[in-house]
Amino acid sequence: MKCTNCGKENRKGMLFCMECGAKLPEEKEILEKAAALEELRQEFEKLEQEREGLLSQLLPERRQA
Ligand SMILES: [Zn+2]
Repeated sequence: MKCTNCGKENRKGMLFCMECGAKLPEEKEILEKAAALEELRQEFEKLEQEREGLLSQLLPERRQA
């Protein structure tokens, strides 16, 4: 588990960094964050497709870029 504060690699399951004492993120926390980011990514992809669709209507010549 890498410390987000100092970058020190800590053993799995450690709650605090051995180097600087900062609280290490728990696995559950990380998984929850990852799930939230995945949701954002999907939302982003949807928006990206929407944007592509709009651009293809307005600027058909740009599609070849
Ligand atoms: Zn640290």
